[in-house]
Parts: sequence; C-alpha cells; structure tokens
Amino acid sequence: MLNLILFGPPGAGKGTQSDKIKEHFDLVHLSTGDIFRYNIKNNTELGQTAKGYMDKGELVPDAVTIKMLESEVDKHRDGNGFIFDGFPRTVAQAEALDKFLATKQTEISKMVALEVEDEELKQRLLERGKTSGRPDDQDKNIIKNRIAEYNRKTAPLKTYYKNQNKFTAVDGMGTIDEITERLITAIDQ
Ligand code: ADP
Repeated sequence: MLNLILFGPPGAGKGTQSDKIKEHFDLVHLSTGDIFRYNIKNNTELGQTAKGYMDKGELVPDAVTIKMLESEVDKHRDGNGFIFDGFPRTVAQAEALDKFLATKQTEISKMVALEVEDEELKQRLLERGKTSGRPDDQDKNIIKNRIAEYNRKTAPLKTYYKNQNKFTAVDGMGTIDEITERLITAIDQ
C-alpha cells in the first residue's frame, strides 16, 4: 500500500493537490475537513460537535477526529492506499494513526509537506472565502486562529515524521500543475 500524508498549513493547497495525486497513484482521498463539513451539512451529531470548533478556527478534539478517521479507513480497505489530507494534525493523532495502521499490517509511506509563505496563505484563504461559502475562510480573525493552531499543534508533526525518515518538503508556490509535478517527483523518490 501507498499511504501518503499531504501536509501543510491552511490554504497551502492540500485539497487541490490531493485530487491530482489521488488520480495519479489511484488512492483513496480522505479529507477530515471535508468529512466534517459533510456531517455539518447533514446535521449529524458529529457535525454539531465539530461545528462549534471549526467556526472558531480551533481543532476538533482528538478523540472525535481519530474515531471518525478510523471508521473512514475501514470503509475503504481494499484500495491501493490512502492520501490523508488534514490528518493527522496533532502528535496524538499521528501516534493513533501509526498504531491503527499497524493493526492493518500497513504504515505511512511518506509525509509530503507543501511550503507556502504566511502572507500568501492569508490571501488564498480570503480569496477562497468569496466563493467557497466556508465561514472559516471569511473572517480574518478566524484565519489567524487557524494559522496559530497550525503553528502550535500541527507544525511539530514535521519532526515526528523526520524522526521516522518519512518527511519531504515541496515548494507550494507556483502554478497548480507545477506543484503537482513536484509532488509526484517527491513521492516517487
Ligand atoms: P484548512 O486546512 O484549509 O484549514 P480543512 O478543511 O482541512 O481546512 O479544516 C477545516 C477545519 O476542520 C479545521 O480548522 C478544524 O477545525 C477541523 N479539522 C479538520 N481536520 C482536523 C483534524 N485532523 N483534527 C482536528 N480538527 C480538524
């Protein structure tokens, strides 16, 4: 199996690039943000829990997120592998994922990180907010909080995967196609 983590701050282009990478390597794309939004739209209990955190730009608690992710993985057991987008976002989530995949006799192959400057991130998110309808993309303070959450809780995961020799960084500035090419090269290495 090829199990990839596409990593990067909010607005780095993880969703856009996941769609391309998924096609190229024939993987199942799991975006925790998309799954939460689907649950919010359908007004499920999970959606109601997640919404309170997402609207403030905070992370949804680990226990809720991990349980959801594991059940999604179990729905797609026969594929070539997964591209995880927006998960893990904390060290506790990464540890849980490692343990969970080990019970399936598989593991994370690589983390590829998209690197984008902070100013560009804020611009991209506000731009996306004009069309996406996502409330968390339309308010400067929420965006600031999401980037702060990323720096505080998520960025340390680089070290976590570096210690396992699974970390690669890719320049996330440029055209969508240029970045896809860079990612494919990094994944093939
Ligand atoms: P972005 O990466 O652009 O911020 P996402 O769609 O990945 O957008 O995430 C939107 C929100 O969903 C996050 O701000 C957070 O509240 C919640 N979320 C998504 N994934 C996770 C996760 N792994 N752990 C906790 N919260 C998450």
